[in-house]
Amino acid sequence: MKAARLHSAGIITVDEVDRPVAGPGDIVIKVRAASICGTDRRIAANGHFKLPEGTPRVLGHEFAGDIVSAGDEVSGYAVGDRVSVTPNVGCGRCASCLVGLNNMCPSYEAFGITMDGGFQEYVLIPRFAIERGNVFHLPDTVDYAEAALVEPLSCCYNAISKLGIGPETTVLVMGAGPIGACHVMLSKLYGAAKVIVSNNRQARLDFAGSVGADVLVNLGERELASVVAEETSGRGVDVALTCVSKPEVQAEAVDLLAMHGRVNFFAGLGKAQRVPVDTNRVHYQGLTMTGTTGSSNSDYAASLRLVGQGRLNLSPLVTETFTLDDIEKAMDYAGSGAGMKAMILFDSK
Ligand SMILES: [Zn+2]
Ligand SMILES: [Zn+2]
Repeated sequence: MKAARLHSAGIITVDEVDRPVAGPGDIVIKVRAASICGTDRRIAANGHFKLPEGTPRVLGHEFAGDIVSAGDEVSGYAVGDRVSVTPNVGCGRCASCLVGLNNMCPSYEAFGITMDGGFQEYVLIPRFAIERGNVFHLPDTVDYAEAALVEPLSCCYNAISKLGIGPETTVLVMGAGPIGACHVMLSKLYGAAKVIVSNNRQARLDFAGSVGADVLVNLGERELASVVAEETSGRGVDVALTCVSKPEVQAEAVDLLAMHGRVNFFAGLGKAQRVPVDTNRVHYQGLTMTGTTGSSNSDYAASLRLVGQGRLNLSPLVTETFTLDDIEKAMDYAGSGAGMKAMILFDSK
């Protein structure tokens, strides 16, 4: 079978490898769709602290497919089932895992980092990932590509569900890539009064507008602070989400909050750096600063339900499809900022 393997920084080749074989407690999934995430690009470029140098690794943590083999000891899953998989498998017994936060487990394993992921024709799902609840049956209404996108959606759900968005909330989404678009869709689903989106690419802003954003701010043309002042009668926004890896965006988000406003620092900054934030505003305006990373299996289950019920439509996020042989083109597209999501589709044979 074909597998796109990362050999060392920047070197991904499509190799012919043996098809994985399910042990008694494992399943093998024939991948049908796998989307490319910024995290895949970062790991491809810089490696990952959990990935030893010199170990070839199949990236890809947003994928869905069909079960094509299941060991004798597997229960609840059978050949032919349509499934998706969440990437982070918790240890099952640390303080985070015990409260259901497998995404915060300090000794997690992950598809696409410590285990081979979705950029290959068949992927082995070991017993411990099945037993810890990382394999989800797809509703009939959700196709494979959409199912792959439930993973990034669930990371946004993790952030949004804690920000107290309701019918009188004004939300500012800073950054209009696929993640920004998911935040727009979720904010509207939570009933936000107004969603403002900022970005410097008009095409991305237009996409955000097509999924429900009310105010589009092209940063090349308008100053964000003055638009926010205008749109909120000088109050500021109730909720801000930073979806750009820039320290100045994080600092600005705090400056733009209304009294009792909440910010979620969604995009990480990569290299650790300290950001000067106006803590006097945090104090006197009663602001709340939050951050989230990844999603728990519970966030994922909720997100999959929303998509399955047709309350969110992720399909428009797929703006270009590729075959596995074109993985490099797909990675480049994902990094170009030209469209939204690059999706690798596999044939059904
Ligand atoms: Zn991702
Ligand atoms: Zn754990």
